[in-house]
Amino acid sequence: MILTYNLKHDSDLGAELKKARQVANFAIRTKSNTSKDVRHIGLKSAMANQILRKYRRKGIKKATHVKLTIPGQSISYHHATKTAKIPCLGLTISCTHLPDFEKIKQIEIGKEFAHVSVEIAEPATTPATRFIGVDCNTTGHCAVVAIPHTGKIHKLGKMAIHTHKKYRDIRAKLQKQGRYQLLRQIKHLEKNIMRNLNHKISKKLVEIAVSEKCGIRFEKLTNIRQNKKHHKNFRYSLNSWSYYQLQKFTEYKARSRGIEVAYIAPAYTSQSCSRCGSLGDRQNKKFQCVRCGHADHADVNAAFNIGNPVSHCAFVPLAHIMDRLHEQSDSCKGSTDTPQNSNAGMPVTVEPRTL
Ligand SMILES: [Zn+2]
Repeated sequence: MILTYNLKHDSDLGAELKKARQVANFAIRTKSNTSKDVRHIGLKSAMANQILRKYRRKGIKKATHVKLTIPGQSISYHHATKTAKIPCLGLTISCTHLPDFEKIKQIEIGKEFAHVSVEIAEPATTPATRFIGVDCNTTGHCAVVAIPHTGKIHKLGKMAIHTHKKYRDIRAKLQKQGRYQLLRQIKHLEKNIMRNLNHKISKKLVEIAVSEKCGIRFEKLTNIRQNKKHHKNFRYSLNSWSYYQLQKFTEYKARSRGIEVAYIAPAYTSQSCSRCGSLGDRQNKKFQCVRCGHADHADVNAAFNIGNPVSHCAFVPLAHIMDRLHEQSDSCKGSTDTPQNSNAGMPVTVEPRTL
């Protein structure tokens, strides 16, 4: 698999970057694909070819943040010193912070950063016997993670709803004023914030899975628009592309660590009791089981169901269930104000799973 690392460089490449921008504009204008046509600009053909190929593509209208792209074959790598030499720029990049890799695929160089893409041997995915469950159906947090064999919970990405509300208000205002260009920029900005957050959450999910020696299980995304469970509240928290993005990011990060990612059909994960499996009573964020009396936050109950469907349920010691009530913190950096106790006002049962 290919992973990209951003390394800071301290060379002044202003002149070369300016040439790169000229080549990109030329490609957009003429759709040329041969570096002979841009020889007058003076950029080395190895780089000019890459830029032409990228910017002559249909649909690209503007060249912003053009980077110098150096293909792998134009880079020499010295294993002993862990340095990559780029002869056509006279640049040396230290790769001492990179993990072991097979080869460098390409390096993109901007004003400050070098984006080094390397091919890494993929570890074999270990089939998991235990899973952590991730529930994304929540208005509060992007993801509620349950670790069934310890009873612990993690709540990640509380800030998403604040971001979404903030941008929704701004969007409404701009729409009223008819400022459509700004509106497009704002949409882009919000998308970037969500993307960053999804990177953080997926990283955290994989970290949890690695430390718990578990796989990761999500609910399968199927026709979210028609799914009643998501219908009303979902749009206030995450929308479907963002949820899908989180799953894809997690899959990718998990693959590099040999962690299995699995999916479960969403039927009943939110209505069944995570202790006895019978259908319970769900009202907003409260879940109560009619059969065994188990009460919990609805998203937490769903996350446990996703992690460990009750038919395979193991006995959970009492101490762990107590843990479950206390260890509810938003451990994803950048998140804010986790409620002190999300079970407040709800009856809480602490009996072990005996049914
Ligand atoms: Zn029950």
